[in-house]
Order: sequence, then C-alpha cells, then structure tokens
Amino acid sequence: MVLAQLGGSISRALQQMSNATIIDEKVLNECLNEITRALLQADVQFKLVRDMTTNIKKIVNLDDLAAGHNKRRIIQQAVFNELCKILDPGKPSFTPKKGKPSVVMFVGLQGSGKTTTCTKYAYYHQKKGWKPALVCADTFRAGAFDQLKQNATKAKIPFYGSYTESDPVKIAVDGVETFKKENCDLIIVDTSGRHKQEAALFEEMRQVAEATKPDLVIFVMDSSIGQAAFDQAQAFKQSVAVGAVIVTKMDGHAKGGGALSAVAATKSPVIFIGTGEHMDEFEVFDVKPFVSRLLGMGDWSGFMDKIQEVVPMDQQPELLQKLSEGHFTLRIMYEQFQNILKMGPIGQVFSMLPGFSAELMPKGREKESQSKIKRYMTMMDSMTNEGKIG
Ligand code: GDP
Repeated sequence: MVLAQLGGSISRALQQMSNATIIDEKVLNECLNEITRALLQADVQFKLVRDMTTNIKKIVNLDDLAAGHNKRRIIQQAVFNELCKILDPGKPSFTPKKGKPSVVMFVGLQGSGKTTTCTKYAYYHQKKGWKPALVCADTFRAGAFDQLKQNATKAKIPFYGSYTESDPVKIAVDGVETFKKENCDLIIVDTSGRHKQEAALFEEMRQVAEATKPDLVIFVMDSSIGQAAFDQAQAFKQSVAVGAVIVTKMDGHAKGGGALSAVAATKSPVIFIGTGEHMDEFEVFDVKPFVSRLLGMGDWSGFMDKIQEVVPMDQQPELLQKLSEGHFTLRIMYEQFQNILKMGPIGQVFSMLPGFSAELMPKGREKESQSKIKRYMTMMDSMTNEGKIG
C-alpha cells in the first residue's frame, strides 16, 4: 500500500540517522531532506513540509543539547509530533452514541466511494453491536439503489429505497422514519453525487439535510486528488454542515498523505480511511496511532480494538490486562497470530504491532504473508516453554 511506502521512507531516514556514529548538523539535514522528499512525493503541501522541518530544527537544536542527551530519541519524537500536527484538524468529530437513534448523512462526488463507504461504516458499527440501517436517497445515479441493496444484503444490514420514487427528500424522510420505528440506532442516508461540484448537487444535499436533520454529515472523498482535497472539502463544508470526513482509496494512490493533510487544514476531522474495495478494508483514523503505525511503531489501541472482535469474551479481560501492562510474550504473540488469521486483512492488523511495518505486507501479497505467519508459528512451536514466556 502506498502509505506504507511513505512510512517506510520516513522510518528508513530515521534509521539511517540512528546508524550514524555522531549526529551532527549534516546527518540531521540528510535525514530531514529524505523525509521532505517522501512527504512531497505523497503530495503534502510544500509549505507544511517546510514549516515542519523548520520546527524540527528549532526543537532539536544540536548545539544546545548536552552530550548526555539522547539526540536520536529527541529527533524521532520531534518528527512524530510534527507529523501529528500536520494531520491534526484541532477539532474532534461528533460520535453517535450506541442505543440512541442517530442519523448520519453521507455526501460526496460520484465515484468517490460513497455508497461503498456507507456499507463499510454500517458493517463496522454492526460488528461493534450497533443496529445500523441504510437508506438510499441517491435517485440521480442509475443503479445506485441496486448497489446499496446488494452491499447491504451481503452484510445483513436492513435497507430502504425505491425504484419508482424520484424525490430524494421523500425517500430519505420515509427511510429515516421507518428505521426509527424499528429502533435502529445508526440510520445512514446515502445521497446523490455528481461528476463535479455543481449547484444542483449542493441544493439537493441541503434539502435532504433540512428534512432529515442528521446528527452527523460525513463527506466522502477520493484520496487520489491529493492537495486539491482542501478546495473540495471547503466547498462541501460551505453548503452543508460537514462534521467528519472519510478518505477512500488510500490503498491505491500516491497522494494519500496530501489528501489527509489537506483535509486537516480545513479543520475537518478524518474519522476513517478506505483501504480497498472489500467491506473490511476500512480503518479507524486517529492521528497519533496512525502516525505511530506509519513509522512502524505499532498501534496498541487499534490492535486491542481488533482483538475484541475476535477473541472469545471470556478470554478478553485477562489478555487486555496483560497487554495494557505492556506484558507481551511470545506465547501471547502466538495466540494472537492464531487470532490475526481471523481478524481480516492481514496487512492492516500486522501494522499495528510495533516493529512491523505495513510494507512487510504489501497488498496483493497477503497470501504470502499469511504463510509467513504460519512459518513464525512453526518456529515458535519448536521453542521451549521458557522461550515463549520470556
Ligand atoms: P459512489 O459513486 O461515490 O457511490 O462510489 P462507489 O461506492 O460506487 O465506488 C466507486 C468505486 O470505487 C467502486 O468500484 C468501489 O469498489 C471503489 N472503492 C470505494 N472505496 C474504495 C477504497 O477504499 N479502495 C479502493 N481501491 N476502491 C474503492
């Protein structure tokens, strides 16, 4: 996946710096130049990258650091913090509450992945015990209802739509009413898209929003537009109260970093990213864990979240207790490998473990990775009990 390459380049730059015997101005500059190159390649805005390197140099004033200071650690921490700053919108998203009916309206251009993302969002919450439902208020694109119906049926999520009604507002209102009566707590309304931003799209969006009074409007955006995401997100925000953004197709485009940072610059929180066409190729987006994973430093909170989905309920408290205490033995790793094989896309899960970069699991080579895990497990099988505990 392309983001993994970005993360890989940055981690390699940091690693090379760590390998240097003495960290002086020259070594730091080389490291920052590498990071700059990687970020610009991912289409992150030049000014953001320049500010980031200036800040790092200011924080890491090599002359002022006493000899005893761990310069590597300080530089790594500064890079981590600055990357977080670039991606932080400075504002959290509204989160719907389980058990209380919420209406979530999806908006975005045609082809951005809106309909697919509606189902992914519903499926994600369903796995966490919510009662989601899908309403297709996209009357513009032929086949939109069939697509939603097909996805919803596959995920066993109730849906509502019409082949004959042409008024999206009426469908949206009827759908929301129907599912409120059925005690659904997450009613997701998929709206029409257009090929480009145009007045008719924004007007329709406004009308559906006015009639359904959504608790949250999610703007879905294709990452391939990179920095241009800033203008697109602003345009949608000006027409309807966008509360959160989902950036799709992060698996296929080199410009993902640019898109994420551009959205953050509009002060809209990105809440999920789409990383493939399948239902479970969908990840929660949280700035710090994301940067941590990007740099190969793992993401315990994401890992624990995944574990809760697959580990039997009675085994969860003990495991979570051990993990939260930082108690991670080979035996636990072995048991989790068994669970990982059940957890969904293997690359996604593996990148949550410290020391494993998502680069190790390139998309399309997951089968190979799966057999790698099985090989690790065989290696562990040959170890003594003491070895596994240590
Ligand atoms: P809509 O017109 O915005 O509703 O877009 P669709 O949901 O129909 O998606 C357009 C295309 O993008 C479809 O072929 C989807 O399978 C694909 N798609 C959606 N999300 C992702 C993603 O995260 N990664 C990849 N690779 N493809 C995606």
